[in-house]
Amino acid sequence: MSENAALQARRTKAIPRGIATAYPVFAQKAEGSEVWDADGTRYIDFAGGIAVLNTGHRHPKVLAAVRAQLDAYTHTAFQIVPYEPYVALCERLNAIAPFTGAAKSILFSTGAEAVENAVKIAKAATGRTGVIAFSGGFHGRTALTMALTGKVLPYKKKFGISPPGIFHLPFPCADHGVSVADTLKALDYLFRADIGPQDVAAIIIEPVQGEGGFLPAPTELLVALRQICDAHGIVLIADEVQTGFARTGRMFGIEHSGVEPDLVTVAKSLAGGFPLSGVIGREAIMDAAEPGGLGGTYAGNPIACAAALAVLEVIAEEKLVERANAIGARIKDALARMALRNDAVAIGSIRGPGAMVAFDVVKKRGTVEPDADAAKRVTQAALADGLILITCGVYGNTIRLLNPLTIPDALLDEGLGKLERALVAGAA
Ligand code: PMP
Repeated sequence: MSENAALQARRTKAIPRGIATAYPVFAQKAEGSEVWDADGTRYIDFAGGIAVLNTGHRHPKVLAAVRAQLDAYTHTAFQIVPYEPYVALCERLNAIAPFTGAAKSILFSTGAEAVENAVKIAKAATGRTGVIAFSGGFHGRTALTMALTGKVLPYKKKFGISPPGIFHLPFPCADHGVSVADTLKALDYLFRADIGPQDVAAIIIEPVQGEGGFLPAPTELLVALRQICDAHGIVLIADEVQTGFARTGRMFGIEHSGVEPDLVTVAKSLAGGFPLSGVIGREAIMDAAEPGGLGGTYAGNPIACAAALAVLEVIAEEKLVERANAIGARIKDALARMALRNDAVAIGSIRGPGAMVAFDVVKKRGTVEPDADAAKRVTQAALADGLILITCGVYGNTIRLLNPLTIPDALLDEGLGKLERALVAGAA
């Protein structure tokens, strides 16, 4: 039995099926944009730990910062004995906040926690309880964030009725037959039929839906939401957990629109593989919660803070914002060429800002009918050829590319070559 198969047997016995795993191969080591499994097989990593590795696996600068921190202290609990890396990181986040005016930041461990706390802060600041989110959006798996998430399968099945006070608007997407006007009409109707704007604490939106299929929020929508939030004293939250830290070709995805949010949730690529998240927000809103109301034992762990400070340096030094745009252009060119092949699965829309690129697999070229089975065949064929690829989208037919932004062109091209072969294999 192979090492992978033996580990898979142990995993099945010891771990519930509720945590699904895309592939039955187990990591042995990783470096940059490559991963090796327990049987020594090499893969090019186009999943990046689900958007966590914009700076790649084990970036030397991140590792050096982590090692230095390990030698100093690893945990004191910021709420008991605070430490400088937490303060320094919040100062850095405040300096890059995608809005004008004074900012404050607070740290947690996971993306869901960041979203939970952003909503708590918005509730404290407004004295209101309603929250509006979007269909297809993803915000986490805790009770509140699961409720905010706009996708039933697999996130909500068997978990019952969500906490009250949460409302969803259809997310605009031409391929799904929803326009910005439809979304705004639904919001107007929601305000009349379900909850008055004076009871809404926050509207939360991903600048580009991640799990929902790499669907950019149209600027027109973001501008309208900003106006509506201003008119009614509603807090606008940009969930940048997946879009943040150079992925979209800007430090934050919302920057493409010119719209300034009130709160920003961050996680994933913030700390290059260490568990860390945060909320960056306007000073007055951030100070609304009472002392002790926010936090967590591990929140803002010093090792993760040290890693994040190094990640931010790497993003600046290696010009990863610019690099994301170059990578994205290279990927899109390659995909446009692959989409012409008659012997490959049919590719629908190719989209996404910067290096947040995805494409749909459709039943027939020129149509939008999703083909999730074909998308699955492609990702399976890719794995067999040494490429880690993941899907997303409400219909499960979107293949997203989340390779590290530090990937050299030669490795990117090698990965794209594997993708092309998988598209052909998936058609068979
Ligand atoms: N928000 C967004 C936009 C995400 O993409 C995710 C994770 N995919 C989350 C929140 C939740 O993050 P976590 O899994 O770290 O709780």
